[in-house]
Amino acid sequence: MNANIYDFIIIGAGSAGSVLANRLSADGRFSVLVVEAGRASHPWSPIPVGFAKLIENPAANWLYSSEPDEGSGQRRIPIPRGKLLGGSSSINGMVFVRGQSHDFDHWAQLGNRGWSYQDVLPLFKKMESYEAGDDEFRGRDGPLKVTDPGEGGPIYDAMFEAAEQVGIKRNDDYNGAIQDGVGMTQATIRNGRRQSTAHCYLEPARERPNLTIVTDALTEKLLFEGTRCVGARYRVGGVVEEVRAAREVIVSAGAINSPQLLELSGIGQPDLLRGLGIEPVHDLPGVGENLRDHYAPRMKWTVSKPGLTYNDNGRGLALVWQALRYAVTRKGFLALPAAPMRAYVHSREGLESADLGISFNPYLIAEGVRLDKERGFTMIVHVLRSDSKGSIHVTSTDPSRPPAINFNFLSDENDRTALLSGMKIVRDWINAPAMDDYRGVELAPGEALQKDDELLDWVRQTAETTYHPVGTCKMGSDPMAVVDDQLRVHGIQGLRVADASIMPTLTSGNTNAPSIMIGEKASTLILAAADATGAKAA
Ligand SMILES: Cc1cc2nc3c(=O)[nH]c(=O)nc-3n(C[C@H](O)[C@H](O)[C@H](O)COP(=O)(O)OP(=O)(O)OC[C@H]3O[C@@H](n4cnc5c(N)ncnc54)[C@H](O)[C@@H]3O)c2cc1C
Repeated sequence: MNANIYDFIIIGAGSAGSVLANRLSADGRFSVLVVEAGRASHPWSPIPVGFAKLIENPAANWLYSSEPDEGSGQRRIPIPRGKLLGGSSSINGMVFVRGQSHDFDHWAQLGNRGWSYQDVLPLFKKMESYEAGDDEFRGRDGPLKVTDPGEGGPIYDAMFEAAEQVGIKRNDDYNGAIQDGVGMTQATIRNGRRQSTAHCYLEPARERPNLTIVTDALTEKLLFEGTRCVGARYRVGGVVEEVRAAREVIVSAGAINSPQLLELSGIGQPDLLRGLGIEPVHDLPGVGENLRDHYAPRMKWTVSKPGLTYNDNGRGLALVWQALRYAVTRKGFLALPAAPMRAYVHSREGLESADLGISFNPYLIAEGVRLDKERGFTMIVHVLRSDSKGSIHVTSTDPSRPPAINFNFLSDENDRTALLSGMKIVRDWINAPAMDDYRGVELAPGEALQKDDELLDWVRQTAETTYHPVGTCKMGSDPMAVVDDQLRVHGIQGLRVADASIMPTLTSGNTNAPSIMIGEKASTLILAAADATGAKAA
């Protein structure tokens, strides 16, 4: 084998890319190269509470931010993205949510064959190992270990009771038959350790002789012969390397970097590219468009009793005790996901399924990621399938320069109406009688703000995302689609995109699980295509 030729080149070893690396190298027929811009690992990544240490850490995070716009009150909103093996699955909040069956049925209705819920359910089952739930929906022996947090206590009991009092029913498996209701968060944590795709998919495959992983290597450009993608150029340690793909290049650089790389390589809107001096290879107007995310105000209350929140447990002697507890038992708040309880509710009557997601976070954050001295909790609420759409586009030919990210949040009227309804539901929940012994003062938005205009204005001034950008290389067959339902880039041979960027619409929840599913799906599509050509190794 020529050192610079591989059957498959995967750009980005994140949630989806790591799955591809494992599955494509598994049967030994193909040589696989993975090019990852970030480092191999970070000491905080395996420890769940390390989430807080990585969210603003340039050693493992791209640290993007959005362009100021009306929906963000002219602020720049932080956009953390994992920059290490495992990608964002190595720095995320470890919340495990597949989404609703309707999400995938909707993708299929848009014309994407093979993406209905019935089509993707076997992949969701194959990828996970989860002990509870119904066999019809849950997988038992996949590489990704999913667990229930096994934590509880009086404030959680009160939250469940208060939920019941406002008509939100308990649901012990929101990844099962239906999502609606309130339950404890399922998490990609096992024995107190984060289950990133680096840990679950890459580590078991690393010793395979046909898998090569290069880290700290920024892919700067895809290489073409006519409209066929034949390889990639990356920079590692100041040296530029060119590698060639005998079969395919798969871009799994995530929802920000995948469209950026396509544009840097000449695939996108020709006028925009020419304006920067990039010679267009192929006209695809949808590259970088259709950006969606969960825009999520943080509503905050103080708690009247001590010892129940991370604000109490995260400092002084309590923290020493928690650290010891973690060291010995791998339990306690250091081993919990970012948001240990969540609810899926309806913003209005007549909806078939929940359109709002709410999470209960038993802590108050002061600036950045520092725990507040005040004890309290934060309720994060967002529209599940937001229709406000933004864009991501390069502003320079320099691959190390961040693209311009415009969210355009709250531009869709339904998003505004549903979010207002969600904030009202949160207030009703927290003001329910069962919370009387725990609820302190509403800090944010604060009881003084009651009118729709005031609340929306507060959202514009303060809301952040839940870090779920998707959709910027969307799958479909309409003129704005970037990939087809086999994830092949329209009009180009030898090139697929497989990551959160291909989602045509947001899934109803956090986006790690569906991104991993996309990696699984892409692997089956690519191996089936290789089989169809009677593949042997190059
Ligand atoms: C702080 C944070 C918290 C989150 N919390 C949750 C949560 O609790 N639950 C949940 O379900 N989801 C969560 N998410 C979202 C979820 O993790 C992502 O949607 C998912 O990981 C996206 O997977 P991906 O494969 O599309 O991209 P990523 O996992 O981001 O992978 C992309 C990879 O490509 C690499 N790359 C990019 N450009 C290049 C290049 N030019 N050359 C080489 N390599 C490149 C990146 O370094 C990265 O490793 C969170 C995300 C963040 C950032």
